[in-house]
Amino acid sequence: MARTEVVVLGSGFAGLETAFRLRARAGEDDVGITVVSDRDDFLYRPGTVRLPFGAAEAPLHVPLAGAFRRRGIGAVIATAEGIDLDRGQVHTSRGRMAYDRLVLATGAASRPEEIPGLAEHAHSIAAAGALHRLGEDLRWAAQHARHGRAQRVLFALPPGNQCAAPLYEVALMLDTWLRRKQIRDGVEIAFDTCEESYVQAFGPKLHELVSRQFEARGIEGRTAATLAKATERSAVFADGSVREFDVLATFPPQVASVHYSGLPCDERGFLRCDPLGRAVLGRPEVFGPGDAGDFPLKLGYLALLQADAAAGAIAAQRRGTTLSAGPSPVVRQVLDLLDDAAFAQIPLAPGDDPARVDESSSRYWVSTGAFWRAGARLAEAALSARFRLGLPFRAGSGWGALGRAPGRTRPNTDNLVERP
Ligand SMILES: Cc1cc2nc3c(=O)[nH]c(=O)nc-3n(C[C@H](O)[C@H](O)[C@H](O)COP(=O)(O)OP(=O)(O)OC[C@H]3O[C@@H](n4cnc5c(N)ncnc54)[C@H](O)[C@@H]3O)c2cc1C
Repeated sequence: MARTEVVVLGSGFAGLETAFRLRARAGEDDVGITVVSDRDDFLYRPGTVRLPFGAAEAPLHVPLAGAFRRRGIGAVIATAEGIDLDRGQVHTSRGRMAYDRLVLATGAASRPEEIPGLAEHAHSIAAAGALHRLGEDLRWAAQHARHGRAQRVLFALPPGNQCAAPLYEVALMLDTWLRRKQIRDGVEIAFDTCEESYVQAFGPKLHELVSRQFEARGIEGRTAATLAKATERSAVFADGSVREFDVLATFPPQVASVHYSGLPCDERGFLRCDPLGRAVLGRPEVFGPGDAGDFPLKLGYLALLQADAAAGAIAAQRRGTTLSAGPSPVVRQVLDLLDDAAFAQIPLAPGDDPARVDESSSRYWVSTGAFWRAGARLAEAALSARFRLGLPFRAGSGWGALGRAPGRTRPNTDNLVERP
């Protein structure tokens, strides 16, 4: 049988897990894999929330050249510019490449321009550079507060963002950071979200947990507060209310990083995919795992699950087998609070809405405790180590570290079953 040439665009969670998982399933004689990315490393984005509070950025970057060499995976540093579906070619800034199977794992980008003034007056938490700048402004705010000039820091989550949790994380971390500096009294923290409940995508238990945290920490939160406009010092909401601020932080609306013409997508450019193996609808040779796809929740955790599904589907196509659905996925999320941590295990319900929380499930639970920080850092270290070696994360023991607490361990299950 001729070798299947697989081209993977993107070196994030989804692209790398797909490439490494596929290589673990098939040798070089069977499947040729080439990763095309505009960067030569992997950035562990969940860790970037610590940057405003003095954490170093370098450990979040995992070099990939050795991993690709070790696993016989081709690597091209280039920008993907488009695809020719009829010819089976990708157009990149360094020329064209032919593929038999194409994995579009180019993720999501921010579009702050959807809200007037947001790009000019708010700090985005979407990129590492912007988080460093947020840290600089927070240090100034802390300095002013120390000198008796009261400060207001506002967090605003606008519509169109599908990854709310990290903004809550930064707000809660800020509270701890200010307390440690003994200047918390000089800084008001407010959190306005367009959601109907806090971290709405994760259901009522997360709402209750965040409400308790906000109350205990003196963070003034509002739900159903839709940001309409930002000016230099004030945020204007759809209901006409106005909040003054000294520092405004946001996670802007998201869109697909790359628009691939000829492929079906939703109104934000996210690829319409078959939930089972993440093949793009009507295009069984093209896959859209991770943030690039239309799953209404953008998480690294889900990107890994979807990447495994895509790798499984590509391997199954080569073998002539088919996939059928296993149990619905269970999401795990840690909110780092610097002094403490909150953990949520969120089972998703089967049915038409892929991101509906199964609220009645006994597997739906939340918990707080500093040990969750340790679990999250262990999972982070394990993922970096596995990617450095060119190995898929989910096949390793580190995957289970996220969500392991005495008496509550339950390994996450694959959401796919391969059948001959
Ligand atoms: C501050 C923050 C905190 C977060 N915290 C968590 C968390 O705690 N838990 C969690 O599960 N998720 C978290 N997330 C979400 C998580 O980071 C994303 O869901 C995840 O990165 C998606 O992975 P991906 O591979 O689909 O996309 P990405 O990680 O965005 O990777 C996309 C890749 O494509 C490349 N690329 C893009 N465009 C092109 C192009 N034109 N040509 C070539 N290459 C291109 C990029 O360089 C990158 O390598 C957080 C996100 C942020 C911003």
